[in-house]
Amino acid sequence: MTSQLVVPFQDIKAPCLSWAQDWLKTAKKSYVAGKFVSSGKTLHPSINPCNAKTLGHFVETTAAELDDAVSAARTAFTQASWKRMPRRQRAALLHSAGEAIRRHHVELATLEALDNGKLYREAFNDDIPEAADVFDYYAGWIDKFYSENCPVDPGFLNYTTRQPVGVCALVVPWNFPLLLACWKIATALSMGNTIIVKPSPFTPFSIIRLFEILQEEVEFPTGVINLVHGGTEIGALIAGHQSVDKISFTGSTAVGKKIVSGSAASNLKAVSLELGGKSPNIVFEDVPDLEFAIERSFQAMFSHKGEKCSEPTRLFLHQSIYDRFVQGLVTRADATICGDSFNPEATQGAQCHEEHFNKIMKYIDLGNKSGARLLAGGVRDTNGSNAAGYFVRPTIFGDVDNKSVIAQEEIFGPVLAITSFKTEEEVVAMANDSIYGLAAGLWTADISRAHRVAEELDAGSVFINKYGCYDFASPFGGFKQSGWGKEMAIHSLEAFTKVKSVWVKL
Ligand code: NAD
Repeated sequence: MTSQLVVPFQDIKAPCLSWAQDWLKTAKKSYVAGKFVSSGKTLHPSINPCNAKTLGHFVETTAAELDDAVSAARTAFTQASWKRMPRRQRAALLHSAGEAIRRHHVELATLEALDNGKLYREAFNDDIPEAADVFDYYAGWIDKFYSENCPVDPGFLNYTTRQPVGVCALVVPWNFPLLLACWKIATALSMGNTIIVKPSPFTPFSIIRLFEILQEEVEFPTGVINLVHGGTEIGALIAGHQSVDKISFTGSTAVGKKIVSGSAASNLKAVSLELGGKSPNIVFEDVPDLEFAIERSFQAMFSHKGEKCSEPTRLFLHQSIYDRFVQGLVTRADATICGDSFNPEATQGAQCHEEHFNKIMKYIDLGNKSGARLLAGGVRDTNGSNAAGYFVRPTIFGDVDNKSVIAQEEIFGPVLAITSFKTEEEVVAMANDSIYGLAAGLWTADISRAHRVAEELDAGSVFINKYGCYDFASPFGGFKQSGWGKEMAIHSLEAFTKVKSVWVKL
């Protein structure tokens, strides 16, 4: 069974594995004030989850290096060369960054697949092209983001200006390492901020390579872009830093809350949060194209091995189509080939790291104990050389109680929970019964019901008759404990600027 979303492997340029092996030989450093530096002593390994072997190392950033990065970013922010750079010149730098990513497409896709465990073709087709394009999208906004002339009482002119927030820390997770970093980097820079990027310690390499490429090929003024490495410790130092003006964070709800506390306890820095999800996908009895709905629901759930924040992990099926829909999903799950990122036969890669793999297996165990019916998967994939890696068979539970742990907690892996329903009212209540509100989907041929249910669903994005549509022009971000604020479109520009009101007595 071939997916509608996957481009045939032969259309993709071959990975550069021997280049990557060579590149990974040296321990990678932080990037501070235009130079790669490493005064720290702690070497941190990053593992290839397909075989659990060490890929390479990075040197953890010290507290002193973080201070240097913040002060370099502060100096660059206040310098005329960045702040008052003509807008078209800044736009040209962003376009050059996008072009540079395109020139290094294969290298970046190779590193992303090695470090994260996703399929090379997923990295090649999805992650890297979008990471390049987002620079063009925000370069285009630079001279189009207008301020207001406010209708105040006569005798005054009142207008607003949009100013960059300042020194912005961009903290990102491991599921789309380069792409999620580039969403933030492009937007922050387009508005004239300076940045400190912190990748996940599980997947640092594509972002490190990006910084090398930018150093060599794009002339950002010194100190505008900085890169630090580490996990909880350095993350907490960033959250509590007195001289960081903003944190744009993507990651778990638990860490998001820590960042809010760190900010509140230090300098009340601005915080925007893209957090976890447990998104419902509702299929009504009048679904327009059942086969398409099955295929798309499967892909939206299991591509990138189920490590997507907005994936539809709770599937609600009208009882009249339950059996047929489940059969279609189970057939696809059983046909899935787990395998190494570079195996052209593989249709699902490895979970990103061991701890995460163990967490997924724990949830599968809880699912089995919850009274739900295991319909597919539920086990580690140990086929051939997979035994050494962190592979989980696509797992489907039926007859799931929406109150149970597997329906309420974010698993962030290839584990789907299916529940049947009879009425619209009942299913909307179940869909909204979650601490999360990132995304939701619904399938129906009834246009009135489509809009009525879309209005009722408590989620930041609602997909009608095709789950999982994304575009830079459309805002992305969750309600409830899925986050604060939006990324993409004009909304992200608002998040990386502050509004000043200027009064003039006439
Ligand atoms: P995580 O919260 O564990 O880590 C995210 C980042 O925060 C990493 O860089 C990590 O090193 C850093 N960090 C860890 N502790 C910190 C602390 N105390 N202070 C500051 N930073 C700290 O998340 P993860 O496991 O890397 O990623 C998976 C999570 O990300 C899932 O919950 C997923 O839903 C979420 N996610 C959300 C979106 C979205 O757009 N809403 C997108 C992708 C992933």
